[in-house]
Amino acid sequence: MNRGLPLRLTEIGGLGVERVASTKARAMLSRIAKSRAPQYHKSRTVMLPFKLVYSDAYYLPIGQHVFPAEKYRRIHDRLISNKIAEAHDFLKPQPASDEDILLVHTPEYVHKLKTGTLSPREEMELEIPYSRNLVEAFWLSAGGSILAARQALTDGVSVNIGGGFHHAFPDHGEGFCMIHDVAVAIRRMQRDENIRTAMTVDCDVHHGNGTAAIFPGTRTTTEPLPSAGPGTLGPSSRNSRASGKIRVAHSGDVFTISLHQHNNYPLWKPPSSIDVDLPDGTTDDDYLAWLDNALSSGLRQFEPDLLCYIAGADPYREDQLGGLSLTIDGLKRRDELVFRVARARNIPVMVTYAGGYARNVEDTVTIHCDTVIAAKEVFTKRMSS
Ligand SMILES: [Zn+2]
Repeated sequence: MNRGLPLRLTEIGGLGVERVASTKARAMLSRIAKSRAPQYHKSRTVMLPFKLVYSDAYYLPIGQHVFPAEKYRRIHDRLISNKIAEAHDFLKPQPASDEDILLVHTPEYVHKLKTGTLSPREEMELEIPYSRNLVEAFWLSAGGSILAARQALTDGVSVNIGGGFHHAFPDHGEGFCMIHDVAVAIRRMQRDENIRTAMTVDCDVHHGNGTAAIFPGTRTTTEPLPSAGPGTLGPSSRNSRASGKIRVAHSGDVFTISLHQHNNYPLWKPPSSIDVDLPDGTTDDDYLAWLDNALSSGLRQFEPDLLCYIAGADPYREDQLGGLSLTIDGLKRRDELVFRVARARNIPVMVTYAGGYARNVEDTVTIHCDTVIAAKEVFTKRMSS
């Protein structure tokens, strides 16, 4: 008989000790059983209680660039290889239609993109080289965010392993962002009457200028926040030295929150409903206090049917384009906070990834994978509670 290496546990159990002739063989089988049992249980992937949206065609054909265009595939592969997700947890998106894109972007801009007639200045502002394939990748990302938004309404949460292009304006692109996929998804969901209102929670290190321009807030109130002083607020008394600033303004059907490093791109920051201007070097605990304050304040003022979480990886302390000092653990706690708050209020969450430029691209991949793990932890608890 085969002495064993490809034995399954059921086969080991089924042999019966009395049928094994030698003590040596019994010891060997016992060792195999002991060594395999825990591995068998550990290696089982528990199906995610929500869907991930991904396509290999999310890859941005931009050549050598600080934006790690291959990060989407790496995230997908890591999620599979680390048994965080399985192939059937992923949905494959279709490109957004031109009609969808036109819910946010001007016909003139869309025409320029489709005919390759951006001016040199417009291409320079985009900061990634124009190509027809690039246009297709952005249309696909927008389709992915539409799909994730729909799926979030079904499952409570969904993650687009891409998107978050929050620097795109209705009439031009900026800062690696050609099409504002999140805004397209919100407008499409509203058009389909799946939602009436939405909230964007932008935790990329850079201000969500495109989001603020698309969903302009009118400065109507300045609501004091917990632990607030007049004008400039600190997240905690011990941090009075590092003065962040929170600005509140809102009207309309989409409430926008942006937490960002104040001294960073973009220079002109049109007002979001809540802007939290963070000082250089902000660390985990202060960041989380600011985020908690901003979420509490936003949700006191506004009841969204959908929360669009823009989970940038670039507040990381090792980021090449960021100047905040969050750790990988702090970023995961950030994700957990957003998910816990949304879950507690039964607000569906659609997640997109935005930026991430860590010196070591594997750190960016880890931070983005942790977002899926955080969602899995928070939303699995929800289902079992
Ligand atoms: Zn960014």
